[in-house]
Amino acid sequence: MSENFFTDNPDLLFRLEQLDLREVVELKERGYTYAEKYPEAPRNYRDAKDNYRLVLEVLGAICATVVAPRAAEADEQGAQYRDGEVFYADATQAALDAFRQAELMGAMLPWEYDGMNLPESIYQLMVDMVSRAEAGLMTIFGLLEIALAIHEHADEEDKAELLPKFSRGEVTGAMVLTEPDAGSDLGAVQARATYDEATDTWYLDGVKRFITNGNADVQLVLARSEAGSTDARGLSLFLLERDETVKIRRIENKMGIHASPTCEIQYNHTPAKLIGRRRFGLIRYGMELMNGARLAVSSQAVGIAEAAYREALKYAGERIQFGRPIRELSPVSRMLLSMRGEIEAARALISLSGTWVDRSKAFAARVSEGDRSYRKKQKQASALADALTPLSKYYATEMTNRVCDQALQVHGGVGYMREFNVERHYRDARITNIYEGTSQLQVVAAIGKLMGHALDGLFAEWAAQDYGDLNAEKEKMIAAGEKLHQAAETLKAKDQPVIDYYAVDLVNMAVYILNSWLLLQDSLVSERKAALARYYIAEHLPKIHMAGEIIASASEIPLAASDLVLGVVK
Ligand SMILES: Cc1cc2nc3c(=O)[nH]c(=O)nc-3n(C[C@H](O)[C@H](O)[C@H](O)COP(=O)(O)OP(=O)(O)OC[C@H]3O[C@@H](n4cnc5c(N)ncnc54)[C@H](O)[C@@H]3O)c2cc1C
Repeated sequence: MSENFFTDNPDLLFRLEQLDLREVVELKERGYTYAEKYPEAPRNYRDAKDNYRLVLEVLGAICATVVAPRAAEADEQGAQYRDGEVFYADATQAALDAFRQAELMGAMLPWEYDGMNLPESIYQLMVDMVSRAEAGLMTIFGLLEIALAIHEHADEEDKAELLPKFSRGEVTGAMVLTEPDAGSDLGAVQARATYDEATDTWYLDGVKRFITNGNADVQLVLARSEAGSTDARGLSLFLLERDETVKIRRIENKMGIHASPTCEIQYNHTPAKLIGRRRFGLIRYGMELMNGARLAVSSQAVGIAEAAYREALKYAGERIQFGRPIRELSPVSRMLLSMRGEIEAARALISLSGTWVDRSKAFAARVSEGDRSYRKKQKQASALADALTPLSKYYATEMTNRVCDQALQVHGGVGYMREFNVERHYRDARITNIYEGTSQLQVVAAIGKLMGHALDGLFAEWAAQDYGDLNAEKEKMIAAGEKLHQAAETLKAKDQPVIDYYAVDLVNMAVYILNSWLLLQDSLVSERKAALARYYIAEHLPKIHMAGEIIASASEIPLAASDLVLGVVK
């Protein structure tokens, strides 16, 4: 059994080494002047990287020795609901206690609030490991975006009161958006926020469902503040501390992530504070919250896939059929290779997205302090972060479902049995392409950026490099990029229903091309990665061409056939 989920995973070490955060860390650490005030703050970039490695090693040890050994137990017992209250599984509570004792709960919060001031891209590696250990636990550990939103938009008093509690693990958060009639379409939220002038307080009324960790002490709630409004522009975001007016009506009986309580909540005239500006609850703050959470779910997906792959690799080495380990049978080794390639590609993509999110945030902080020299860079970084985040969520969460399916298949019949961990990973993976916006909604978020050729700058930068033995692959990717450009233009010329129908094909093209370039970058520093890049491109180039062909022949035919074929009478 592994002793450490960081040191036993060369790909995590590789990603940490490759992360280029020099400018981000310099800005986040205020030219390393925080070190004068906070003894744990880094003194230079190398010191920062050493700190990050140490944090990852400490967390990796807890994940391997405390969390993973009790993951099946956490799944079996699950979160419990009794007398209106939620109780974590014993193993979940023990894991949270261990994180708390190791002071790991405030990862991304600033030093002044007892946090570790970590960049998003380091936090992603943490979420990856926690999810490999126990995917349900990640939904409690990985809710730090809520604290970040409070840091970004709440007043000084609330920040000073709440944020150190998050860092010390004394409180947890919930992001309360979804309602029975408002899921993907959050603009339809009905929960009501009314302002009482006499007490200068907002009060919330309404029902929310599917709320992860809805038992949390601190909640960010999306509600309709503008009476009579019907769309997203009438919604604002509210901060509340749970009291007796917040009733947890039930928790869901789910397929997977059993340790994560998914709550239905009723607010009965619950006092709350407005966060940020009125009417910007969804269009600005809600989207910010979700974008952060989307990257966390992407890392959760990779962590689950890593766990499933390892189970499959081990089993394939032990199971003998036809006189040899099944790993030696090429259809089985093909599945293993496909899993490994997809996992490492997804990690590279998430790492890239995280880096641009980190840059966007660090530059935005400078701009908001009046340093106009960062404006152009901030605009570029935020445009890339906005394009890459839905692509990462789409790819990583679809990937984890493919990987878990293959991992179960490698196990044959025993994979279908509860005693084998792969069955749990398969169930846990299934939520990732649903919550924080389904895959279809990620496609909706990405398609406009792709039709605006948002990735062309990155592709051009990568195409200018020399890849030595892999220059032939580089030429293929340049040609593939031209095909993507052409496909985007073809799609743009179509009517909206046709664009919506074929959008997923353009997204598939884009992620396969992105991943191929990223693996080519990795090939510059590692022979093993060069072999992986060559393999990945060989496997995915035909898929890129196929998606291009689908778009080239895009037509109204499927839309015209749909109602008749499905027997829908309108
Ligand atoms: C376990 C779990 C935990 C959750 N945690 C939280 C939480 O903490 N906080 C929170 O606020 N919410 C949470 N959710 C809610 C989750 O984000 C929603 O379930 C999800 O966004 C989908 O909404 P829906 O279930 O209403 O599906 P619907 O919106 O009804 O979607 C049904 C289908 O229609 C498709 N569809 C809908 N609109 C479009 C469109 N415009 N284009 C293409 N396809 C479309 C969807 O992709 C999907 O396939 C959680 C859900 C679950 C299951």
